[in-house]
Amino acid sequence: TALDQAIGDGDHVINLQRGLDALVKLDEALPALEWKPAMQKVGMIVLSTMGGASGSLFGTLFISMSKSIPSEEVLDQRAFSEAFFQGVEAVKKRGKAEAGEKTMLDVLIPVADAWQQAVKAESDFVVTLNTIGHVAEKGMESTKDMLATKGRASYLGEKTLGHIDAGARTSQLMICTIVEQLKLMGE
Ligand code: ADP
Ligand code: MG
Repeated sequence: TALDQAIGDGDHVINLQRGLDALVKLDEALPALEWKPAMQKVGMIVLSTMGGASGSLFGTLFISMSKSIPSEEVLDQRAFSEAFFQGVEAVKKRGKAEAGEKTMLDVLIPVADAWQQAVKAESDFVVTLNTIGHVAEKGMESTKDMLATKGRASYLGEKTLGHIDAGARTSQLMICTIVEQLKLMGE
C-alpha cells in the first residue's frame, strides 16, 4: 500500500485483496479441477473481482497460462514453466510493456526466463526454486532505480526514481511464497 501511495493511487493491495478473498472461496472447488480449467477459473475470478490495472494483468496471466497448459492430467515442470512463460508474454502484450519500465514485468519476465533456463539445464528442483526466489527479489529491487514509463506511475516521471514498484513487490511476494511452500512440501 505504501509503495502504491508513493507513486500511484494507493489501492494496489485493496485490489489484490478483493481478488484473493474471492479465490479463497474456491478453496474446495479448485483442487477438484485439472490444472487447465483451474487456471482458467482463477484467471476469470481475478479478472472479474480484482480491479485496477493489476487485476486485468494478473487475470491475463492465469487465463493465458490455462490456454497453453496441455490437457493431460499431469503437469510437469517443463509444461508448467512454458505455460508461465506464455502467460508473461500475454501480460506484456496486454500492458504494452517490456522489461525495464518499472512494473510487475520486471519480476515476471526474469522469473519466466530463469525458470525456463533451469528446466533446460535439468537443474535440481530445490536449486531451481532457490534461483527463482532470488531472481524475483533481484527483479523487485531493480525497479527502485527505474523510471516508470507505464501505468499511473508514469505520470510522475523522475519522481518515481528511488521507489520500488508496488506490482513488482506483490509479484515477488507471491512468487517467493509459492517457492517457500514448495520447499516445505519437498522436505
Ligand atoms: P492501478 O494502477 O489501476 O491503480 P494497481 O494499483 O492495482 O492498479 O496496480 C498497479 C501496478 O500495476 C503497478 O505497480 C505495476 O506493477 C502494474 N502495471 C501498471 N500498468 C502496467 C502495464 N502497462 N504493464 C505492466 N504492469 C503494469
Ligand atoms: Mg493503484
